[in-house]
Amino acid sequence: PEAREPLAAVVGANLQAPLVGGGEVRYANLDYAASAPALVEVAEHLEEILPFYASVHRGAGYASQISTSVYENARSVVRAFVGARAEDAVVFTRNTTDSLNLLAGCVPDGLDVLYLDIEHHANLLPWQARAHRSVGAAGTLAETLERLRAELEGGGIGLLAVTGASNVTGEILPLTGLAALAHEYGARIAVDAAQLAPHRRIDMTGTSRADGTDTGIDYLAFSGHKLYAPFGSGVLVGRPDWLDAGRPHLAGGGAVREVRLESVNWAVGPARHEAGSPNVLGAATLARAAQALGALDPGAWHRHEQQLRDALVTGLGEIEGITVHRLFEDSESAIGVVNFTVIGHDAGLVAAYLSAEHGVGLRDGKFCAHPLLARLGLPAGSLRASFGLGSRLEDVERLLAGVRELRTHGLGIDYTVDEGRWVP
Ligand code: PMP
Repeated sequence: PEAREPLAAVVGANLQAPLVGGGEVRYANLDYAASAPALVEVAEHLEEILPFYASVHRGAGYASQISTSVYENARSVVRAFVGARAEDAVVFTRNTTDSLNLLAGCVPDGLDVLYLDIEHHANLLPWQARAHRSVGAAGTLAETLERLRAELEGGGIGLLAVTGASNVTGEILPLTGLAALAHEYGARIAVDAAQLAPHRRIDMTGTSRADGTDTGIDYLAFSGHKLYAPFGSGVLVGRPDWLDAGRPHLAGGGAVREVRLESVNWAVGPARHEAGSPNVLGAATLARAAQALGALDPGAWHRHEQQLRDALVTGLGEIEGITVHRLFEDSESAIGVVNFTVIGHDAGLVAAYLSAEHGVGLRDGKFCAHPLLARLGLPAGSLRASFGLGSRLEDVERLLAGVRELRTHGLGIDYTVDEGRWVP
């Protein structure tokens, strides 16, 4: 399918902002990295399955049977979307945060989890609460991998947890090299693909290198709402042994083989972690979005995104007083996420100004990645523009025009910044 209009535009949700200069024009949503608008075909699928909404696995009725088959089919679609191994478990969760917390309850005791300081809190706090080690990233990816190697060499690490793409700068991490590195030292790799999955094909299976090192991804987590599907669904895909032996994510009906008054025999497989009535519509819409992305021509998809990114980075570079932030000097690719600050201006005020005066929606703040912002020397936060399938060059141009006007005329108010907060 072609990239279609975002759902919000189609259903006429209240996204038409009155702008400076008058006239009703399209609201420039440049916050896809937070949540992407739903695809029309996802919304259509939702309408299609809504009449059959019924409890899965537990009912013999017609609707229940359909619901069960929709739910289980969603697992197969997700499996294909990420190139999972046949034996991998596909567990439906609420979101990426939920998936990574689930995994944290399954890493065997006695093994440390290793992570970098560039992670979203969802891929940091679940590990911080158990045996772990952390490493500060270097200014290059090459040196960062060496730092991870040095830590892995010490032994005792069971899992390397890493993001597929930074939610702050958009830079893509070299997953093949990271997987090979982890496997070389007998560790596994978990990838937080919340940002990567909506922008790039992922192949969990990988290949076996000449030296026998496997470049596959052992665990992968992502969210429906960043993948052009509605809120409320996420997924964890990965090797079944730890998941089958780990602490059940939720205790309750559906996750058991047998219950006695004082004991329980837990199920294995996805059911072990999916107690309670599952989010069938969430799983089905996530899967439909995955199917739609899987059918895109990767070349056209990436070119569209790269053109917008290049236009934005080049345009910002031409405006005096703007700094575009990145983590690694040698990162070669990035998703549609650009991070910047306007010298002398509070990021929150700039974002409010761009929204109110120019109809541009950005995200400002620290992006749930406080250690990363500290690494970039941005304790007061920054601005993030992010885009995807529904984005157009005119959205980027609107943002650039707004930033230019801000540089020329200021915000029209006097304020100072004190300890990261603006003071009138
Ligand atoms: N990891 C990354 C890289 C993210 O960008 C996000 C969302 N901002 C998350 C994890 C958490 O996703 P969710 O809120 O859907 O759990």
